[in-house]
Amino acid sequence: MWAGRVLHATLSRAPRGSRAQSALAQLRGILEEELESIRGAGTWKSERVITSCQGPHIHVEGAPGGIINFCANNYLGLSSHPEVIQAGLQTLKEFGAGLSSVRFICGTQSIHKDLEAKIARFHQREDAILYPSCFDANAGLFEALLTSEDAVLSDELNHASIIDGIRLCKAHKYRYRHLDMADLEAKLQEAQKHRLRLVATDGAFSMDGDIAPLQKICHLASQYGALVFVDESHATGFLGPTGRGTDELLGVMDQVTIINSTLGKALGGASGGYTTGPGALVSLLRQRARPYLFSNSLPPAAVGCASKALDLLMESNAIVQSMAAKTLRFRSQMEAAGFTISGANHPICPVMLGDARLALNIADDMLKRGIFVIGFSYPVVPKGKARIRVQISAVHSEEDIDHCVEAFVEVGRLHGALP
Ligand code: PLP
Repeated sequence: MWAGRVLHATLSRAPRGSRAQSALAQLRGILEEELESIRGAGTWKSERVITSCQGPHIHVEGAPGGIINFCANNYLGLSSHPEVIQAGLQTLKEFGAGLSSVRFICGTQSIHKDLEAKIARFHQREDAILYPSCFDANAGLFEALLTSEDAVLSDELNHASIIDGIRLCKAHKYRYRHLDMADLEAKLQEAQKHRLRLVATDGAFSMDGDIAPLQKICHLASQYGALVFVDESHATGFLGPTGRGTDELLGVMDQVTIINSTLGKALGGASGGYTTGPGALVSLLRQRARPYLFSNSLPPAAVGCASKALDLLMESNAIVQSMAAKTLRFRSQMEAAGFTISGANHPICPVMLGDARLALNIADDMLKRGIFVIGFSYPVVPKGKARIRVQISAVHSEEDIDHCVEAFVEVGRLHGALP
């Protein structure tokens, strides 16, 4: 609507009959056709508007009353934690709204250096570098690190930002079947001719809640002289006994060379991303990574929030354990009721339904019962594997979870998903 009005206004200002006017008219036609094809394919993404803080209980425009939210990546509930908010406010007051600059010109404050040191300490790595987002960390890494002499081996279901980051680099590209270690080994054998080999994988995959077999990946990497890169966006802060991530969960913290992760999910949910790993790599990224060199510094409030989130996690792992217990509660009750929940014991709990329309209808009816969940269908997930992705947070109460399961059972029966 808005884009249409702007185009219309721009068009009407161009001299009638001018070439600029006809180029704009042509653009408008192309855009409308493209938008129509998205609608026609049933893949239009509309956004529900939240009118409160992010949290387990939210208010959504058009939905009367409070809603229990089961679709945020707010795994530890830190997005609206009072101490995290207070730290953000304090940093905002002390260090201002932003830097109006990139890091290497005049955009580095003491808080950026402190947060980088804290991230490295949290992950037990040599150094860390901040980016405006993890998307940027993934966009910056591969191009800066790998040349046409090298190879990158990537799980086929890796996050879009890893795929895009790999596209930007000149290394030879190998894509192995999802979690398929025999295929990875075959590709590693093929890649022996290159200088460096880097295996790239998500730690936890966000559509299925499944976890990369890092022990096997690290074993193969050591056998074939490869480095291991893991995107820990859906693991940092809550997987593993103290929330360090998938590498801690699977006991390979000393074998994963490079970690990228986000500050925009469990670690307070504001925004920001980072790479942590060998000091020399971090130094090289500061010189070469384009999203670091050519994009603004992370705003102080976001730095303050993430820094406090890490402090809370390093002080105690009580929140991490509470999240694990709640995930188990949801998964076991849903399975006992007859639903299939995909993935490992991850707070991403995909309720597998198969049919796209069924997933959509069930999600809509859940909202009518005060539960916010989202259905995913093709092309986001494979055809015939539509699902509703439920995400558990440490700050859901047991009653929230029980209420969600009860609503699923009721709506599932209504739509024939349960006997
Ligand atoms: N990597 C993975 C696995 C993700 O799920 C996401 C976000 O959805 C990102 C990277 C991007 O993170 P950010 O929101 O910090 O750009």
